Amino acid sequence: MSTKTNLVGLTREGLAQALLGAGVEPKQASMRVQQLWNAMYVQGVTDFDGITTLAKPLRQELSGVFALSRPEVVTAQVSRDGTRKWVIRFAPGIEIETVFIPDEDRGTLCISSQVGCTLSCRFCHTGTQKLVRNLTAAEIVSQVLVARDDLKEWPRAGRNSDTRQITNVVMMGMGEPLYNFENVRDAINVIADGEGLSLSKRRITLSTAGVVPMIPRAGDEIGSMLAISLHAPRDDVRDVIVPLNKKYPIKELLEACRAYPGLSNARRITFEYVMLKGVNDSNADARELVKIIRGIPAKINLIPFNAWPGAPYECSDWERIEEFGEIVNRAGYASPIRTPRGRDIMAACGQLKSESVKQRASERMAELRSRDIGRMPS
Ligand code: SAH
Repeated sequence: MSTKTNLVGLTREGLAQALLGAGVEPKQASMRVQQLWNAMYVQGVTDFDGITTLAKPLRQELSGVFALSRPEVVTAQVSRDGTRKWVIRFAPGIEIETVFIPDEDRGTLCISSQVGCTLSCRFCHTGTQKLVRNLTAAEIVSQVLVARDDLKEWPRAGRNSDTRQITNVVMMGMGEPLYNFENVRDAINVIADGEGLSLSKRRITLSTAGVVPMIPRAGDEIGSMLAISLHAPRDDVRDVIVPLNKKYPIKELLEACRAYPGLSNARRITFEYVMLKGVNDSNADARELVKIIRGIPAKINLIPFNAWPGAPYECSDWERIEEFGEIVNRAGYASPIRTPRGRDIMAACGQLKSESVKQRASERMAELRSRDIGRMPS
């Protein structure tokens, strides 16, 4: 493996620092950042030879210390309904999944923030996988680049920007983004940068199971759209299906939502609600739900439960989901039912799980020593 520093995914400041450290003239640093930014995020280049705005000797110099590389794509699958799933490997044993969901009017890329997850939500497949580690900002951004490569979305592939396939990004893959705050923040800011990938923050949604103390910071430092995995209107039920609720109960969670900056009817919070037969799907649950969120500009996304091997729940019947949605709708909230996509390739909500297992610390240290790189994130 290369020990060159990868420039992909660094913030603008991080990139400037890296260039200065490699001997780039301070006076030229901001121009070089601009040129590299355009090359990486507008052109999608993967080697320095492709950056024709830089003189040849400089390209050579930079390529001696830096890389513009992509992680390894282990598998790329396409579902019968057009959904795509990539298994991406960042390092031995460090694998995540990224999913692209094409729709008539949009294309949504669902990206991961952690390898595994600590939350153990009872209905979620990822929750059965222990946390292996947080992804770096570079690793989060590179999921977008891998998807753009495969969808042939760069200008050199002959596409212009108004035929863009990836129009939205949701942080709803593996992991809890608010438990990896700094990396998620930096990554979203790179993805939203108007001179690069240029996806508006109104089209980027961060989904959280409810890490209440981090929600105000997400509002201040990220400013993307917010989705909350609510799933139940009462603490007794939510304590069981989303154990994080025991730490941050519904009342505190909803207070943080009310205080989220910039909310309006045009900028609503999405409450995700997975439909579990006999658990959270009664008419009384629906009525209680609209009561507790009153006053919050919101929409309720009803998610039919996606089964996985050994799952302890069943999906509510279709008529039940529709009746539940009716009640929510009559109370004035949009209540779209999320059509399950990519079930045949295990790409649907809550079905993601990689083979990565947590390596014992001692094994990992031995591996690091043998590869002589001491700066892998812990
Ligand atoms: N940890 C964050 C990000 C993951 S988002 C969060 O909880 O919001 C993944 C979304 O899929 C969440 O809304 C989650 O509750 C939902 N989900 C998990 N398992 C599911 C399943 N088996 N069927 C349908 N939706 C599921």
